[in-house]
This record gives sequence, C-alpha cells and structure tokens, in this order.
Amino acid sequence: MSSSIFRKNLAWVAEQTQADPHVFTGIGKTPDPRILWIGCSDNPHSSLEIAPFGREGCLVHRNLGNQVSAQDANLLATLAYAIDSLQIERIVVCGHYGCHCLRHVLRGKALGAADYWSSPIRSLFRQHRRQLDEIVSEEAQIQTLCELNVRMQVRNLAEHPLVEARLAVGSLKIDGAMWSARDGLLRDPGIAGPRTPRPSRRASAASADMMTAP
Ligand SMILES: [Zn+2]
Repeated sequence: MSSSIFRKNLAWVAEQTQADPHVFTGIGKTPDPRILWIGCSDNPHSSLEIAPFGREGCLVHRNLGNQVSAQDANLLATLAYAIDSLQIERIVVCGHYGCHCLRHVLRGKALGAADYWSSPIRSLFRQHRRQLDEIVSEEAQIQTLCELNVRMQVRNLAEHPLVEARLAVGSLKIDGAMWSARDGLLRDPGIAGPRTPRPSRRASAASADMMTAP
C-alpha cells in the first residue's frame, strides 16, 4: 500500500480528533445500524459524507451503478444479514448525477470486463431510448437515466422475497435518493418503494368493482 495512504489516514485522524476528542472512543460500542445504504462504487463521496449517520452509522453496500441484482451474491449476503440479523428498518438506494458508469452506457462506450455488469443498465437505456433522445443536453440525459436507474433498482429491491416479506408487515421502508456533486445535496426525486403490501389480483378486481359500483 502506498505510504501516502497512511499519511492521509494520520492527517484524517488528527482532523477528526481535533473536532471531537472522543470520536473514536465509542467505536465498537455503537448500536447496530438501522439503515442499509446501497450506493455506487464510482461516487467518490461515501454515505458518511453525504448523510452523516453519527455513531450509529449505517450498513453500506456499493457497486457500479448502485444496482440491485438477484445474481449479485455480495448484495444478497448483505441484504440477508441486514434483514435477518440486524433487523434494519430502512434501505436507501442512492444514485448520483453524473455517474461515470451510466455515462459510459449513455455514450455506448464499452466497459471491458464490466460490460456484463452494466447489461441491465444498457437494457434500461434501450427501453427509454426514445424518451432520452428527446432530451437536448447530455447532462440532462444522464440525469434522467440516473433517476430511471434508481427507480428500477428500488423496484428490484421491493421484489426480493426477503424485502417483500418485511414490506408486507410494514417493518421496512425503501427510499430512492439522488445525490449531486454540484451542490452536495441529497434529493428525494419521489422514488419510494411500496410501504404496504401490493393487493392481490383478486383484491384489485374486487376494489375495481367497488369503484365502478353505482
Ligand atoms: Zn456511479
């Protein structure tokens, strides 16, 4: 490891300790995190910088494009641990405007060995190609694709059996969020997972009958 990494760590420790002399004394005695944060690997700013969670912290999973994939053993293990062991109460799927991974997809650039990983995002791009082509600037296109991606990942998450079961009893919430490097603000673009169980087809039909009844 580069010696500069150790020097930077020393500087960071000094800075943190100056701000709070007891900042490290409570580590290891903190309660279990109540939040699972799913973010993007190519966002250089961590969840702790974006939305400081204090000493309680949060459980973090990051991958390229903040994806929720049923084929991702790493995510599935984290999800099972978060839900079964930690009994977390909230999952945040956080995208970021200007995501390099999504920008490569938008420009049709190859990601080499990571091409297989970005395949779902390329499918999403093709699915919304017409909508994106109507947007004039590339920056606005990438913003829209980032939001569409978070929406898709929230949907994927809500459909996972472990998550679905917790959503059904109201003991878990999912939020989609977007972070901007331009102003540092975390935005709620109105992307939220279902908070109540989805009605069955039979229940939906009954409800529709009631709505149309005179
Ligand atoms: Zn990214």
